[in-house]
Amino acid sequence: MNDHRARKRFGQNFLQDSRIIADIVRAVRPQPDDIVIEIGPGLAAITAPLAAQLNRLHVIEIDRDIVARLHRLPFADKLSIHQGDVLQFDFGTIGGRKKIVGNLPYNISTPLLFKLTAYVDEIAEMHFMLQKEVVERMCAAPGGKDYGRLSVVLQYFFDMEKLLDVPPAAFDPAPKVDSAVVRMIPQAGRIGIAHDFDALAQLLARAFAMRRKTLRNNLKDLVTDEDFAALDIDPTQRAEDIAPQVYVALSNFLCEKNQNRG
Ligand code: SAM
Repeated sequence: MNDHRARKRFGQNFLQDSRIIADIVRAVRPQPDDIVIEIGPGLAAITAPLAAQLNRLHVIEIDRDIVARLHRLPFADKLSIHQGDVLQFDFGTIGGRKKIVGNLPYNISTPLLFKLTAYVDEIAEMHFMLQKEVVERMCAAPGGKDYGRLSVVLQYFFDMEKLLDVPPAAFDPAPKVDSAVVRMIPQAGRIGIAHDFDALAQLLARAFAMRRKTLRNNLKDLVTDEDFAALDIDPTQRAEDIAPQVYVALSNFLCEKNQNRG
């Protein structure tokens, strides 16, 4: 069928289940003029059906052998092929509101998701195949072990929904882990707007530093009992019990307190 040998270092697990491929394309709902970017097209399992419904499709691929194959595809004239590492890619060079899609290499998924938060204003929606465990952490609600910094930071920027579970047999070669497809849509201030996103990120790093400790303990140099009381937060809770909007409110409260201190 194909003579490409999958490269482990590039996380190459190629989709071979036509039902799953059709489900992903249906979830993306491509319209001819949409600005769509596929990360890691590989052997074009998703690329071909997407391109069939689009006037143009941008693809970002690191593997030069695969890039050479992409140039030889019968629909190559529809593709804008960007050869390189997606972690270095400036998504701002492609104008307009973008739909981003990809069966991602799992080894770069977390840094890539954090990188994409910087482009939230240019994104219409994103659909990604990821390790199922990562999707569960992204979508987790407060109160369980899946809920952590990744959940809060991504939920600050996006509404997320797990669309489907995908077993290892859907890929060739089969990965060792289960996978899932997630939809991410930018959310407009539903959980508040942080006055200083870096301050929020630092607060989260501190709050989740030791998951078994209470908030009072993890944040003891930063937040007083009076501060907790002013925001009606019980300081004996753990970081995993606190909703994203409460972190945003706490971060803004601390920024204002520091400003007033002058
Ligand atoms: N989309 C194809 C499919 O579903 O069968 C391939 C998916 S495979 C899991 C991941 C793809 O991402 C591979 O084609 C791999 O070469 C590419 N890739 C890996 N690391 C990358 C990176 N840093 N930047 C861009 N592409 C990368």
